[in-house]
Amino acid sequence: MKPRVIVVGGGWSGCAAALAANRAGAEAHLFEKTDMLLGSGLVGGIMRNNGRFVATEELIAMGGGDLFKIADRNARHKGIAFPGHQHANLYDVHRIEPDVSAFLRKAGVNIHLMERVVDVERDGATVVGVKTEYGENLSGDVFVDATGTSGPMGNCARYGNGCAMCVQRCPTFGPRVSIVAKMGVHEAQAAKAPEVYGAMSGSCKIAKDSLAPAIQKALQKTGIYIQKIPETLVNRSKLSAKACQQYALPEYAENVVLLDTGHAKLMSPYFPLEDLRSLPGFERARYVDPYSGGRGNSVRFLALAPRNMFLQVDGVQNLFCGGEKAGVLVGHTEAIVTGTLAGHNAVRRAQGLPLLGLPRSTATGEFISESGKAAATEEGLAQSYTFAGSVFFEHMKEKGLYSTDAEAIHRRIEREGLAGVLRARLV
Ligand SMILES: Cc1cc2nc3c(=O)[nH]c(=O)nc-3n(C[C@H](O)[C@H](O)[C@H](O)COP(=O)(O)OP(=O)(O)OC[C@H]3O[C@@H](n4cnc5c(N)ncnc54)[C@H](O)[C@@H]3O)c2cc1C
Repeated sequence: MKPRVIVVGGGWSGCAAALAANRAGAEAHLFEKTDMLLGSGLVGGIMRNNGRFVATEELIAMGGGDLFKIADRNARHKGIAFPGHQHANLYDVHRIEPDVSAFLRKAGVNIHLMERVVDVERDGATVVGVKTEYGENLSGDVFVDATGTSGPMGNCARYGNGCAMCVQRCPTFGPRVSIVAKMGVHEAQAAKAPEVYGAMSGSCKIAKDSLAPAIQKALQKTGIYIQKIPETLVNRSKLSAKACQQYALPEYAENVVLLDTGHAKLMSPYFPLEDLRSLPGFERARYVDPYSGGRGNSVRFLALAPRNMFLQVDGVQNLFCGGEKAGVLVGHTEAIVTGTLAGHNAVRRAQGLPLLGLPRSTATGEFISESGKAAATEEGLAQSYTFAGSVFFEHMKEKGLYSTDAEAIHRRIEREGLAGVLRARLV
């Protein structure tokens, strides 16, 4: 009989975990509380920038790269540069979700939309099932918590500027519920400074057709538009509040930086609408995510699971985690690589096989190791971890793990004996 792996949370990490479990031969179930997959991936779009290129190619070489290939196919712009970032692809946030959903369904993943998991059934320190809001129960062998860390509204009210009405849509679909917390495991909170908890999401989306035609044209052609802000409107304090420290550079405070992801992605956590509309070309600007982007954004990183290098949650042998739940990890790429390993290891656990740990000679192995260690220290909880910048990208470069040579990256994975490892059927 196939083991049953239950993944809770349908963001990039949950999609990756369910797909990896399915590929390894399990009956995979993916529970998502809203009516769409991808979570915050519905409003992001930046891929392959800086060290993310390496992580992407490593996962492809290991046989777990299907979701990256879908993102590449949905790219509106490829290989672009913007301040502090090189060779980025921007996927189209309007088009990608149906492709991911169709791909998972075709592979055989059982997707349960609008089914919020609100509790667990347990037998001591083992999870045996999940319960949904509407009274459905499903038992399973191994579980993955991929519920992310965005919201719920109470966190945005307490640690941010209030619910900014973001794509997570807590008022409609209910607050995030963590399986890790339901199992009684203590979750850590990121704190940028003593008693400054969580971090604010770092970008907003503006309806492109609310911008002047010349701005639309530049975005369409090059994927990027940069305009200087008058000194009176520069707010440098927003930089330190950002979840994505890879964009906490002066260029992002002193300019309006827009990227074309379908919407115009404004690289700022929020920007008062009247100030924005005072800039030439922005007179009619309208936010589409979060709706209250003039005032704030979602607050994240207040529910981080302690876990090991196999992404197994401390103290609960049959519970794994991926994405933001697995540390102060920012990014789609980071969610996909950790989600994939969590889903794969869930099947190994079910089959009684040794769990797969990625060596530190790979960028992904080093990332999982370093970000896991960081989440256990006050200093680490003040940072954010991403292949795309901040402390980890520097570390990658120092260790010689950064390269833009895809063939060399694939050869490294082969040398480590990891080529295709995530495609192997284990059942
Ligand atoms: C505005 C914004 C822009 C961003 N832009 C980029 C970008 O351009 N590039 C990039 O790499 N990263 C970007 N990021 C960061 C990136 O989106 C995230 O770090 C990553 O996608 C997180 O994935 P995740 O799966 O861990 O969590 P999430 O995307 O938060 O997904 C968690 C999912 O779990 C669901 N859920 C929660 N609780 C339950 C429950 N109990 N039952 C069922 N479902 C549940 C939620 O509805 C959600 O869909 C951005 C983030 C934001 C907020």
